[in-house]
Amino acid sequence: MSAKVIDCVAIADEIKNKLQKEIETLKKKGVTVGIATVLVGEDFGARMYRKQIEKFCDEMGVQYTDKNPPADASEEDVVKDVKTLNETDSVSGIIPLRPFPKQISDYAIINAIALNKDIDCFHPYNMGKLTLGEITFAPATPSACIEILDREKTNFEGAEICVVGHSNIVGKPISILCLNRNATITTSHVFTSMAGNLAKHTTVADILIVAAGKAGLITPDLVKEGAFVIDVGINRVKLLDEDGNPVLNDKGKPKSKTVGDVDFDAVKEKAGRITPVPGGVGAITNMMLMRNAVKAAKIQHGID
Ligand code: NAD
Repeated sequence: MSAKVIDCVAIADEIKNKLQKEIETLKKKGVTVGIATVLVGEDFGARMYRKQIEKFCDEMGVQYTDKNPPADASEEDVVKDVKTLNETDSVSGIIPLRPFPKQISDYAIINAIALNKDIDCFHPYNMGKLTLGEITFAPATPSACIEILDREKTNFEGAEICVVGHSNIVGKPISILCLNRNATITTSHVFTSMAGNLAKHTTVADILIVAAGKAGLITPDLVKEGAFVIDVGINRVKLLDEDGNPVLNDKGKPKSKTVGDVDFDAVKEKAGRITPVPGGVGAITNMMLMRNAVKAAKIQHGID
């Protein structure tokens, strides 16, 4: 039987409506919810992400502030910019958009963000609190995974969960959030695969959360029958026709499409529940960021 495909867009819309009402109510109390991004230079991926943040701020009536120092800006100047944002009342949350140019260390910028404006939980203090289970802001993508699991009434206690990926911003915090809820966690990563052990861990998981950035990594043989599969990956791949040849656009260039890390069509025949890509975790991630921005604005204005 084919898996239940989780309608993440509907979940995101529902959260969006709720947050929009909350943002309006705060506005009436004189509280502005605002998000600022810090992008140094012109990195393509970071610019795309900035565009997306600007768009959902606009849609939701949230003030957006763009700090975009040039690629040759000094670390000191960017830290100064962050400190200015820390002092700006209409900025509730600050999101550093990486990668930064070589002369700027991630940690210098992240450490400069005020703890109560760190809405994607980059600061080591907030990550430490997350690890201890005393969460101020859980990072957006891991929160989106938890939101999906909660809405599907997951009992975390003792659940066998395998996370594929151990990055500081996705894999690790997802593992910690699940561990805080007393799940049994295996965190696998590229070295697990290189040691030939990935299947050993993924095939016993009732919940498989994949954040590797490798299209097609998870095939049905890596999935337990009936498992809940959450695909965090976002990859651009060439669109192929039935014979495996690239599909070309009007200009003769190969068309591309967005896929996750899971071979969706094949895995959905074995999994019990599955999230799609696109229209999956990413849609909810944006709303988790916005939820944190609202929370930050409330903290900063002493509102419960
Ligand atoms: P990253 O490159 O920092 O980390 C990738 C992780 O995957 C590493 O831990 C690595 O060890 C592991 N990995 C790589 N190849 C592997 C393999 N063959 N087998 C097992 N593990 C392997 O990436 P990231 O920032 O953690 O992002 C992961 C993916 O999630 C990317 O596709 C990214 O675009 C996507 N992402 C999605 C959202 C969202 O909201 N949906 C948000 C952030 C990132």
